Amino acid sequence: MKLFERILVTLYRLFVRYNFQEDYHIHSILSDGELWPDEIAEHYKDFPYMITDHVNWNKRTKMVKRILSSVPKGHRGAEIHTSGADPSRLDKLALYLKERGIERVLVHSFNKETDDWIAHESKHIDVWAHPGEITEIQAIACSRKFIKLEITANPKHSRWNRHIKRLAERYGIGLSYGTDTHISSQLLHQ
Ligand SMILES: [Zn+2]
Ligand SMILES: [Zn+2]
Repeated sequence: MKLFERILVTLYRLFVRYNFQEDYHIHSILSDGELWPDEIAEHYKDFPYMITDHVNWNKRTKMVKRILSSVPKGHRGAEIHTSGADPSRLDKLALYLKERGIERVLVHSFNKETDDWIAHESKHIDVWAHPGEITEIQAIACSRKFIKLEITANPKHSRWNRHIKRLAERYGIGLSYGTDTHISSQLLHQ
């Protein structure tokens, strides 16, 4: 890594350390992460965290079983990707997960599809993960549906954090903080 890049990474880590009081977006080996849920629990101990592995409609039964048997209570989350999914099914899937003990449901959405799913009922979705360049209209819909917006440490999406914070303040929307960890070096407090 070049010196300049290293300085940027260090500054970024410092920023994240002082701004994040929780990490509610982590992928474990149950989906496409590299860490076991035990390792994440060991790392964070009393620090608030949620393991939010990818779940889709077809794998829902298998994934819920996996989560319930490996992730401790109080830390059981899931992330649903909207890509290719029927938007009317998203809330059905979120409800399915909630009824079986998944405590926090994130939706990962790409901008071209956001209007589709946000126009649907989403009573059981808690967080819109790294929403990117969200519009005023989308933000207002989130505030009505009590969907939190995520502030992310993922450098792919973090350039929108300030924009998201501003909209959240304007419309009284809750924020959720997450690293979107897939590999161990992405966890906080390294
Ligand atoms: Zn992933
Ligand atoms: Zn994710």
